[in-house]
Amino acid sequence: MANIVVVGAGVSGLTTALLLSKNPAYNVTIVAKHMPGDYDIEYTSPWAGANFSPHTNDERGPWERNTFPELYRLANDVPESGIHLQDSLVLNRTKDLESGAAMSLSADLNPWYKDVVPDYRVVPLSELPPGYDSGLRHSSVCINTAIYLPYLVGQCLANGARISRAELSHIADAASLHHSGKPADLVVNCTGLLASKLGGVMDAKVVPVRGQTVVVRNEATPMIATSGTDDGPDELCYIMQRAAGGGTVLGGTYIVGSWEAAPDMETAARIMKRAVEVCPELAGGKGVKGLSVVRHGVGLRPVREGGVRVEKEKVDAVWVVHNYGHGGWGYQGSYGCSQRVVELVGEALAA
Ligand code: FAD
Repeated sequence: MANIVVVGAGVSGLTTALLLSKNPAYNVTIVAKHMPGDYDIEYTSPWAGANFSPHTNDERGPWERNTFPELYRLANDVPESGIHLQDSLVLNRTKDLESGAAMSLSADLNPWYKDVVPDYRVVPLSELPPGYDSGLRHSSVCINTAIYLPYLVGQCLANGARISRAELSHIADAASLHHSGKPADLVVNCTGLLASKLGGVMDAKVVPVRGQTVVVRNEATPMIATSGTDDGPDELCYIMQRAAGGGTVLGGTYIVGSWEAAPDMETAARIMKRAVEVCPELAGGKGVKGLSVVRHGVGLRPVREGGVRVEKEKVDAVWVVHNYGHGGWGYQGSYGCSQRVVELVGEALAA
C-alpha cells in the first residue's frame, strides 16, 4: 500500500482523490482548510456556475476533452451527482473578438470540441438575437456545485478515503497528516488560489480573477454566454440553470488581481439587467423585477500565468504532485487533469 495525502477539497482535490482511491494499492487521506458546505472567498469551487463551455484551441483542450465524457455520463446515468444536460448557446459579437474581451469565446466556428460534445452546430444568422454576429450551440452539462462536491466526498469515503481539516503552512507538512499515522509516501497539492501563499510552493504566477454572480430561483434554457458586454472589458454575461433545484447562476465579472469578497450591488444590477435582456423568458418578460434572488456571490478563479500546473517535484525530500491553477475551467478540466495526476503519482512512486 502507498499512503497518499491529497491537500485540498475543491473540485480538483476531490476528483483527484476519487480517482486515486479507486486503486486498492493507494490509501488516501484528504486534508483541507475548507470543505464542501463552506462558502469562503479562499475556496473557489462552491461559487462556480458550473458548466462545460470550452474555448478554442488553447492549452486547456486536452484536459477538457478527457473530462467531458465523464461529466456527460454522470448527467445521463447518475442523477444524485447533481449534473444535468443543458444546451449551451454561445453568442459572439465581432467587436468583442477584435478587442480581445475577457470572454472572447469561440470565434472559430470549427473548434476542436465540435466532435466531443453532441449536437454541435453553428446557429444561423436568422436565429440570432439582435446585436450578435455569430453563434454556436451544442449539448452540454451544468453542475449544481452544492450537490456535486458532497457527491464527490461521498464517493471518496465509499472508496475508503479519510478526510480531515487542517490548515498547512508548508506543503511538505502534509506528509505527516496521513490517517494511518505513518508518513505519507506522496502528497498531491490541489490548493487552488492558495498555492500562491503556501510554503514550499509560493507560486507568484497564481492570481485571483474575481467573478461576481447572482443566483436566482428563475429558470430558463438553454445556457447562454456572450462574448462581451457594453459595460466594460471585465464584465461578462452568462446564464446557467443548475440541476435539481439549484436555481440559475447569472454572471458575471472577470476582474484580474482583485481579492474583494463583498458583492458590489451596482455590479449585481448590471448582471441582472444583461441577463434579462439576452433572455427575457428568464423573468417571464417582466425584466429585472421578475427575478427572484437567492443570493449574491463572489468567487476567485485561480488563474495561473502560463497555465495550469500538473507536474511532480520533490519538496524537502517529499514527492509532491501539483494540480492547481485551473482558472475558470476547473470543473470542465477536472477529470483530464486528475487522470494525469494518477499517472504522475505512479511514476513518482516507482522512481
Ligand atoms: P478550490 O476550490 O479553491 O479548493 C482549494 C482547496 O485547497 C480548498 O479545500 C482549500 O481549503 C484547500 N487549501 C488551500 N490552501 C490550503 C492550506 N494551506 N492548507 C489546507 N488546505 C488548503 N469552472 C468550470 O469548469 N466551469 C464553470 O462554469 C466555472 N464557472 C465559474 C464561475 C465563477 C464565478 C468562478 C469564481 C469560477 C468558475 N469556474 C468554473 C472555475 C472553477 O470554479 C475553479 O477552476 C475550481 O473551482 C478550482 O478548484 P480547486 O479545487 O483547484 O480550488
